[in-house]
Amino acid sequence: MIAVLIFISFAIPGAAHAQAISEADLLGHIEVLASDAFEGRAPGTAGENKTVNYIATQWALAGLKPAGESGSWYAPVPLVERTPTRSRISFLNESRGKTLRMKQDQIILRSRDRSFDHSNIPVVFAGYAGSTLAVAGKLVLLPRKPPADSDGLPDYRNRKLQLIQQGAVGVIAIIEEQKRWPRFRRFFERGSTGLAYPGNHAALEGLISFDQFRKLVRQSDHNAKQLIAERAAISIVKLGLSADALVETQLRSYTSHNVIGKIAGTNPKSGALLFMGHWDHFGECRIEDPLEPEKDRICNGAVDNASGISLLIETAKRLSGDAPERDIYYLATTAEEKGLLGARAFVNSPPIALQKFKLVFNADTIALSDDGEKIAVIGLGQAGPDSDIEIVAKREGRQIDRTGNADVYVKRQDGYVFLERDIPAYMITSAFADEERLEAFINGPYHDVSDEVNDTLELTGAAADANFHVALGRYFSSTATYPGKVTSGSADN
Ligand SMILES: [Zn+2]
Repeated sequence: MIAVLIFISFAIPGAAHAQAISEADLLGHIEVLASDAFEGRAPGTAGENKTVNYIATQWALAGLKPAGESGSWYAPVPLVERTPTRSRISFLNESRGKTLRMKQDQIILRSRDRSFDHSNIPVVFAGYAGSTLAVAGKLVLLPRKPPADSDGLPDYRNRKLQLIQQGAVGVIAIIEEQKRWPRFRRFFERGSTGLAYPGNHAALEGLISFDQFRKLVRQSDHNAKQLIAERAAISIVKLGLSADALVETQLRSYTSHNVIGKIAGTNPKSGALLFMGHWDHFGECRIEDPLEPEKDRICNGAVDNASGISLLIETAKRLSGDAPERDIYYLATTAEEKGLLGARAFVNSPPIALQKFKLVFNADTIALSDDGEKIAVIGLGQAGPDSDIEIVAKREGRQIDRTGNADVYVKRQDGYVFLERDIPAYMITSAFADEERLEAFINGPYHDVSDEVNDTLELTGAAADANFHVALGRYFSSTATYPGKVTSGSADN
């Protein structure tokens, strides 16, 4: 049934452009992308090849043009996975010339390169305020939690980047809550993946427990609790310590890919829109149980985020037949699950100047709600054209959820990397307006083998969301309905 529907929509050129997006349209793609043959879509695997190929093929059929590197559909995203293997660190109290005893299980380290071997590194504490100029050549201890009232201050990630840019040799995060230390340590031990750009990592990185941090600070005139409590006002504090560290890390470098397509607008000077969603998921996410070797080990990611990709394919079919005024770019990102890495790679080297993007719409985890009316708009109140979103919602008979419950996800989705650069980005979906279902999903199949195509997959809201995105595309790609913000002093293109 589904295959027939899809066949017809390709067989009659133009037919798909006019029709509303149906649940069956979306399900057709989700069944392919979340099938075991796609192996859970882990970056750098055979499952990636199948996935990015499928998306590019579908976009080509929809009439998009490739907008990746060198005229292709793909933009390479070089990644490095780092797994700590061995480390030893000792601290010397400089005034007493005494080496402090360290509990090696209260600190965990990894090196940016295969090994790190340095002595006499001065140790400082960093808060979140002001200049980090004094950190060149130093090992920095930085509270993992940014200050609660952090208006105008960087978050942890950006503070760490500032320290690295100023030449810090190492950045070690202080885990304030001692009871959470074992979890943080286990997580760190499993390794992590980052963009393989020089400058994104310090030569030495790690975590230290609060207990151990307190022991280090006790050697100085400072008080550990007070330093952390005052982190919003503190820039850099010398601790009178130096460190010797020997650290070895296993590195695995590989290349993944974003997929980028484009509908060329009739008036490209009027700017561009971007529709995006992540294609990646966790691949084979369970280790084999020798007693049950046949047991499912693939995290298929049907909801997260084959559903969002299905929206990107079906909306592309509709909008490409429109001859829109603005360019409309389509982006399927990799490595979202590893920390929005594909989206970060895109903003680092976009196909056009980022300022040309009037608006970004991210589609993630849309297949949850059976309600085709209510939508959550993540990104409201973040300097985007909220009132225009409301106009489109009203026209389309969609009701915006006003609880603000979904706002907590704003930093946990790909659109956030655009918000960080003051480019309006929204994530609009019925799935996040259905709090009960969202919670049941997050406490259930989310990031687990059971996020797969089965009877519980709910596509009513998803189809409504997809059609709403077509309406958003039409409204915001036209200068008649959406002239866009006029920037003073320079041409607004
Ligand atoms: Zn996810």
